[in-house]
Amino acid sequence: MTADPEPALARKARRLLEAEAAAGFDDSSTTGGLSRWVAGQGDGVGSLARLSQYSRLRPRTREDLARAVLADLGAPAAPPARARDVGAPVTVLPGVGPTAQKRLAALDIRTVGDLLYHRPRRYIDHSSVVPIAEAEPGREVTVIGDVVEIRARPSRSGRVRVVEAAIADETGQILAVWFNQVYLAKTLRGRRNVAFAGRVESAAYDRQLTSPEYELDVHRMVHAGRLVPVYPLTRGLSQRQLRRWMALAVDDYANDVPESLSAAHRRAHGLPDIATAIRNLHFPVDAVAQEAAARRLAFEELLVYQLAILRRRQTWRESQPGRPVKIHRDALTAFGGQLPFKLTDGQRVAVVDILNDLRRDRPMSRLLQGDVGSGKTVVAAGALHAIVGDGWQGAIMAPTEVLAEQHTATLRDLLTPLGVRVELVTGSVPAGEKRRLWREVERGDVHVVVGTQAIIQRSARFARLNLAVVDEQHRFGVQQRGEIRAKGYNPHLLAMSATPIPRTLALTVYGDLDVSVLRELPRGRQRIKTSFVPAHRRGDAYAFIRKQVADGRQAFIVFPIIEESDSLNARAATAEHKRLTRGAFADLADDVGLLHGRMGAAAKERAMRSFRDGQIKILVSTSVIEVGIDVPNATVMLIEGAERFGLAQLHQLRGRVGRGDHPSYCLLMSETTDATENARLRTLQTVYDGFTLAERDLELRGPGDVIGTRQSGALGFRFATVTDLDTIQSARSDAEALVRSDPGLVQSEHKPLAAAVAQLLERNEWN
Ligand code: ADP
Ligand code: MG
Repeated sequence: MTADPEPALARKARRLLEAEAAAGFDDSSTTGGLSRWVAGQGDGVGSLARLSQYSRLRPRTREDLARAVLADLGAPAAPPARARDVGAPVTVLPGVGPTAQKRLAALDIRTVGDLLYHRPRRYIDHSSVVPIAEAEPGREVTVIGDVVEIRARPSRSGRVRVVEAAIADETGQILAVWFNQVYLAKTLRGRRNVAFAGRVESAAYDRQLTSPEYELDVHRMVHAGRLVPVYPLTRGLSQRQLRRWMALAVDDYANDVPESLSAAHRRAHGLPDIATAIRNLHFPVDAVAQEAAARRLAFEELLVYQLAILRRRQTWRESQPGRPVKIHRDALTAFGGQLPFKLTDGQRVAVVDILNDLRRDRPMSRLLQGDVGSGKTVVAAGALHAIVGDGWQGAIMAPTEVLAEQHTATLRDLLTPLGVRVELVTGSVPAGEKRRLWREVERGDVHVVVGTQAIIQRSARFARLNLAVVDEQHRFGVQQRGEIRAKGYNPHLLAMSATPIPRTLALTVYGDLDVSVLRELPRGRQRIKTSFVPAHRRGDAYAFIRKQVADGRQAFIVFPIIEESDSLNARAATAEHKRLTRGAFADLADDVGLLHGRMGAAAKERAMRSFRDGQIKILVSTSVIEVGIDVPNATVMLIEGAERFGLAQLHQLRGRVGRGDHPSYCLLMSETTDATENARLRTLQTVYDGFTLAERDLELRGPGDVIGTRQSGALGFRFATVTDLDTIQSARSDAEALVRSDPGLVQSEHKPLAAAVAQLLERNEWN
């Protein structure tokens, strides 16, 4: 039985502990901390001696201790512990001050919850703890021993300071060496029972651990003796710091992270509860537990994402009624009747789907997917014809001016005979004329407006916009999809994509859209014979082009550099044009044209027209033609630097030839000798299905190629991978079931999910 403290000390202790309780047991009640205070009070402390460990404890344990001591001192019971709030700022963690707070904010970590969801980039396996005698060179190990000797000295070159320590346990001794970390000599001098983790090397006289991690508290291994997390960092933040704070956060807050999956749900999918998952995300007991944690967090993320998609779709459909279109019975017949060809089955089904959507009083949200050349424009024309027939206006938005111009031409061919007025409004239309056109649009005299983003960026007014078509949808973000929608009074939306979207991505990126697919190409379309040509055989490729040109055909030579840089693309194409007209095709110099995105609209137009009309035989171009022009006499597509591109994109490019009756060819030039890379390109020799190629891209190169880097980044997944079809599908079906049983997610067990969904929907990209 320990003695009571002296009354004066008891009073003081009580005041300090009450201050601790008010401040959240952060050891701030007295300068230097409570442990130091107790130690400084001499013999009279009696039972207060228990507080001598206080400063070393974690807040939760401090709380227990403080309450016990207060009770002994006869203080009335303090109010019950606050439920710990993971929404609290990181500064509630001991050791995290304003500077650390700022640095963490750079990682988007503001609250303890943010911290707990900060995903380790990887783990170092320091879990093999061995006696020093068994630390064999070449192995990653953790040893636990005493620091029997430690010193700092300059290196032989004098440029760095070396700290050397001898570590011993009962089986042997090993050397540890650090560079430029002189403070370690002080931190570690005379320490016993310290864990050191690293790769064992054989040094001149001894085995050696170079710059090992160390862990002073072997009862609570954070930096050694386990799978050790490695986090993304930011300036001024070290792994050790972050790991230490993470350990505090996990210990004290993991149990308070809201659980969003019901026990039944978790059982059905074999997923751990959230507290276990958070613990094993950061400090996994083993690799299996770590994987289970990752799986659970990915599933949860996808479930929330799918719920948000369903919610947004519901909002679009229900809270903002669309305006139904009366479809005149003979509209489709009239449209089909004047086409120069028969619609494919796929086209007919797509048109019917669309017309059925348009009839409803909720706005259509449909994605029309189809390989390049599958005839999507015709389908869009059918839809535009139908709405114009009921007195509405339509708009079609294309990613490039060249394409907008071509659409204008196509739509005029198809629709002008039916009395539909189609006008092009792009940046290159003279200002005066543009103003006049917009006035006519506002009056309703123009039926269909074709343009680039410009048509959503300016404060354009339509008299009766009721169908917005977005071509090459994958080039636009979710945001723009929303913007064009906002142009009319919630018009029907038809998105079109020539990049076949694998099902996984369709469910995430386009999960809010209904999908129509054109699987077949119009009859008579031929296969483009594709060959892989290593760079050293470029001469053969040129000879082939020459022969085709001699036979009266035409060729593309394409330099698809990088999507993001128009100017780099332009420069490469320009340089190549010069090189070719002075070299390999010097004798044909007048027949070699140039086309790139940086050219003025008139010059572009000229180049395109002269190629289409056969005045130019060889068109050197950037990938602007990927979504561009239709020239039936072109039979060769030579693609330079093919290794830099996704298969689906190359597939789209080659779709520019083979549009006439002549056999057509695609030559893929590769600069690399990397066998895997070139094997990837050879896929195009045998695979002609855009969907399969897109799936392959997704496997090999990730989602950037398929949906654009911007969009895949905008998904903002931390744990989920867009290629994980199984998880995505099960999250989707669970989300659908949840929404069926509890549409508003109002049941109490769905509250955390509802909150997570609301939070996601608040993010900008979602509006
Ligand atoms: P994409 O789906 O790549 O946008 P387009 O709409 O540009 O394809 O159509 C490609 C070409 O196929 C155009 O020249 C178009 O006139 C033609 N086309 C479209 N549908 C058919 C069809 N059913 N039969 C024959 N040719 C067609
Ligand atoms: Mg198209």
